[in-house]
Amino acid sequence: MKLDDPVVKIPSVGQVVKKRLEKLGIKTTEDLVNHFPSRYLDYSLVSSISAVQLGETVTVRGTVIEIKNQYTRGGKKIQKAKIADKTGQIGIIWFNQPYLTRTILVNSIVSLSGKIDFFGKERVLVSPEHEIIQEEKSETIHTGRLVPIYAETRGLSSKWLRGKISKILPQVTPQIAEFLPKEVLDKENLIDRKSAYNKIHFPNTLFDAEIAKQRLSFDELFLLHTTVLERKRKWDKKKARKPFLVDKLKIAEFVFKLPFALTSAQKRVVGEILSDLSRPTPMNRLLEGDVGSGKTVIAAVAAFAAHLNLAQTAIMAPTQILAEQHHKTLKTLLSPYGIKIGLVTAAKKKASGRPGIVIGTHALIHKTVDFENLGLVVIDEQHRFGVEQRAHLAQKGIAPHILTMTATPIPRTIALTLWGDLDLSILDEMPPGRIPVKCWLVPEVKRLAGYKWVKNQIRDSAQVFIVFPFIEESQVETLKSVKAATAEFEKLSKTTFKELALGLLHGRIKPKEKDEILTKFREGKLDILVATPVVEVGIDIPGATIMIVEGSERFGLAQLHQLRGRVGRSDKQSYCLLFSSTNSPKALTRLKYLEKSKTGLELAELDLKLRGPGEMFGTAQHGFPELKIASFYDSSLIAKTRKVAQGLFPQILKNPTVKKHLSKQSLVAPN
Ligand code: ADP
Ligand code: MG
Repeated sequence: MKLDDPVVKIPSVGQVVKKRLEKLGIKTTEDLVNHFPSRYLDYSLVSSISAVQLGETVTVRGTVIEIKNQYTRGGKKIQKAKIADKTGQIGIIWFNQPYLTRTILVNSIVSLSGKIDFFGKERVLVSPEHEIIQEEKSETIHTGRLVPIYAETRGLSSKWLRGKISKILPQVTPQIAEFLPKEVLDKENLIDRKSAYNKIHFPNTLFDAEIAKQRLSFDELFLLHTTVLERKRKWDKKKARKPFLVDKLKIAEFVFKLPFALTSAQKRVVGEILSDLSRPTPMNRLLEGDVGSGKTVIAAVAAFAAHLNLAQTAIMAPTQILAEQHHKTLKTLLSPYGIKIGLVTAAKKKASGRPGIVIGTHALIHKTVDFENLGLVVIDEQHRFGVEQRAHLAQKGIAPHILTMTATPIPRTIALTLWGDLDLSILDEMPPGRIPVKCWLVPEVKRLAGYKWVKNQIRDSAQVFIVFPFIEESQVETLKSVKAATAEFEKLSKTTFKELALGLLHGRIKPKEKDEILTKFREGKLDILVATPVVEVGIDIPGATIMIVEGSERFGLAQLHQLRGRVGRSDKQSYCLLFSSTNSPKALTRLKYLEKSKTGLELAELDLKLRGPGEMFGTAQHGFPELKIASFYDSSLIAKTRKVAQGLFPQILKNPTVKKHLSKQSLVAPN
């Protein structure tokens, strides 16, 4: 068996199992051995039958004396067995697993792990895990040891995965190659890779599991850093078409004539960008700033600088609505300077004439527009942070300056790990005059009072969002989540808010209908918009002043912060009500942080500390890569691995294992 072999090469894996394995992201035998356990069951206490104690979790081995199905008085089937070793006999009981009488036969030797408890008056082993063995001394996989538990999927249990991994791992272990030099292993106290793979799946002790995890976490972060270093090396080799001549005077004049004065954070960021633009290496910068911190005007200044160099700017927005919004804003700011601004839509794919700036969605713009002299690309609110765009542009042989903008707060450790090749600018100041949104945590007992207060506010012409959480762990909108939100919408329309006008918005509503609903809400014809978290992105309705989040404990702090950013967009006081039915003090303390107004970045850092990265902002929804075994919270390991990667770079790229790893990363832009 080879590491690259597809899973169908594994005995008894056919098309059905292949599909199931794909759900776990497993396509090759290598993926299978990289499916690491999430925890272990401790079945390591092996006892002779006569010595077992009531209440203990124990493994016994012996010969099956009898096994049979029995009906209980309630009509359910139970399975009863007896096994014996040299020291005595013990009864076994299973519930509702009639097939066991066909797999466990009288006279076979078994190893059983489970808990000793009373059944009636008898002490028995209750619902144990079982394993049929050759002799009592045989080595076991599922019992009598620390037993690995894996992320499962329907039809693929941990036991199944464990069985397969135990067969495949010895076959591929010789192919698992070391890539770290011995000095590094010694200095960092790391075990070798072959042992790490064996110990992570089948540790003899928890200490074994721990040192295996340390090694594999190190590798995961090390390889990520190496990927990023390689991306940066390739980028830095590129030459901008021509370094821009930054005409400071003309730009200062442009800034002076803006309808408002820039905040000092905006000034700082503009300075960082202008200095990038004047260098021969194209800019590759990530601009992070809360919703409303004023990123668009920064893009406008950069586009103006490009225009002074007769270079064109492409601006990519995540949705058509946002593209149109940018089009309007930039027209106001830039057409006085004779800059033509084109909008690409699904219907109108060519911008007429030679526009200085072209705006469209991510999907549209690079499929449809050809530029004569593209000098700057601005990517708004997208989470692969320009990687795809860079790859695409590189294929066309051009290397414009790239500015990626996001309101998603990315904690430093994550930014360093995943986008360490980008320079980072942070807008940590809001334009003056904003009234901060008041945020309250509303426990279940105050729900009715909350509704009453909301109704009063609506009477005073407030408009309200009510957001229901996604139901699934994965944090993506599935039919189940849509149905749940729809049911709540119908309930609220018929009961609590029956005299008011309600609308419903979710991802499965057709674009045309969505527009109609939003227009109605914007025009004040709806009092309440019930929605799934889809409203998080891009909806701008200044009249809405109340945001209610249901099941708020299911959201990350940063996500809640983005939701409350949907209100507070006018000169009126806005409110955010966090409804929650949880009693968990931990969850409530976490939510309380939102009452003290904090920036998105502060909240994201807090989330990372309190909940771990996976849940921080519904990673799946935002397209953040997830770590398999290491943690974004482990900032010291992140720093250490980065240093080691830098030290070994670029020679390490010659190592076949590292090379193979990098070539598999879609994150690496082609040359
Ligand atoms: P975001 O960072 O979310 O993209 P925008 O660029 O859309 O934010 O800006 C939000 C609003 O703030 C816009 O109406 C913009 O005109 C305004 N704005 C931006 N900068 C300033 C400033 N320095 N002073 C006052 N208003 C500003
Ligand atoms: Mg914006």
